[in-house]
Amino acid sequence: MSENKIRWGLLGASTIARERLVNAIRSNGGHVASVYSSDRGRADAFADALGISARTTDLGEFFDHCDAVYVSSVNRLHHAHVLAAASAGKHVLCEKPLATSLEEAAEMIEGCRSAGVILGVNHHLRGSTVNREMAALVQSGAIGQPLFARVINAGVLPSHLYRGRLTDEPGSGIIFDKATHDIDLLRYLLAETPLEVTAMTSDVAVESSSIAQAVMSTMRFPSGLVAQTFDAFNVPGSATEVVINGTEGSLYASDCLSGRPAGALKLVMAAGERPIPVSHVDPYTEVIRYLHRAMTTGTRPLAIGEDGRIAISVAIAMSIAARSSNVGPKVEISF
Ligand code: NDP
Repeated sequence: MSENKIRWGLLGASTIARERLVNAIRSNGGHVASVYSSDRGRADAFADALGISARTTDLGEFFDHCDAVYVSSVNRLHHAHVLAAASAGKHVLCEKPLATSLEEAAEMIEGCRSAGVILGVNHHLRGSTVNREMAALVQSGAIGQPLFARVINAGVLPSHLYRGRLTDEPGSGIIFDKATHDIDLLRYLLAETPLEVTAMTSDVAVESSSIAQAVMSTMRFPSGLVAQTFDAFNVPGSATEVVINGTEGSLYASDCLSGRPAGALKLVMAAGERPIPVSHVDPYTEVIRYLHRAMTTGTRPLAIGEDGRIAISVAIAMSIAARSSNVGPKVEISF
């Protein structure tokens, strides 16, 4: 398959496809060939606005027009849509969270493996230059042995994106939506996978929703490193941050979780601090660049199905931990 001829089908007339992925595909020389929506009006409006010639509400017809499929439907449909794409012999980039359960994730990985197609997962934070510089510095030993990490990934969820996120259906909620990004990013930065997790959600009701809009977690990794994450849908004015403290120094990254080509990084040692120069690239464009290379030369996408499966397995453990700490015994503080 020649890289500049890759024809993509968009399975889902979604906001993220419209705002990020169409540009990422086109700027890598790919062709956005078709869009599928369950609603005729949405399919037409999306295709007309973005100059896409084929639009359909028929999945069978949709697969005729593409070599690769970007699945960005609501989370509960990722499983069915990835399996349909694999059965049609198409490579797949699936949005995170990969699935709503571990069983679904395993079926999706196996479905793509047995069909001989690639399953990439859009954990786009691996494509941010700040995060990649940070991973390289950690892995080169620049801060010694990493001991602690903190991720702040709080912001505001606009009301037009509540669908599929602020509901009580499987795969919805702050942990599946945002903490899955932090989990994958920590695995990428630290090159290890957490073993255990505790968590608490905030029970402050916002906009009359009873669904938790914020979560704080603490995880322990095999090396002994302890990491904390903070995710929220209801915090205006919060800047995103990642901090990693090691035996020899610390890395401070700011504005590195937005999805924009942005952010700053500094290395702080006992002797002083220095900014790390970063040339920004669009992280979604990087995800597609890696996938095009994987399709044409067999290299690894930035995140594969197994990375998506691990992110949701930690997210499920975090959800269980949060539920049990919300209702179970806690250590009361004596004064
Ligand atoms: P949207 O709600 O915009 O789109 C999801 C689906 O909702 C669409 O496929 C569409 O269904 C349906 N939909 C869109 N507009 C309407 C409407 N006006 N009325 C009714 N239904 C509508 O979600 P997002 O684009 O924010 O998220 C899609 C996926 O991408 C999710 O899995 C999310 O987790 C992930 N995501 C990932 C990001 C990342 O950085 N990796 C960032 C943002 C989202 P249909 O296709 O049938 O028309």
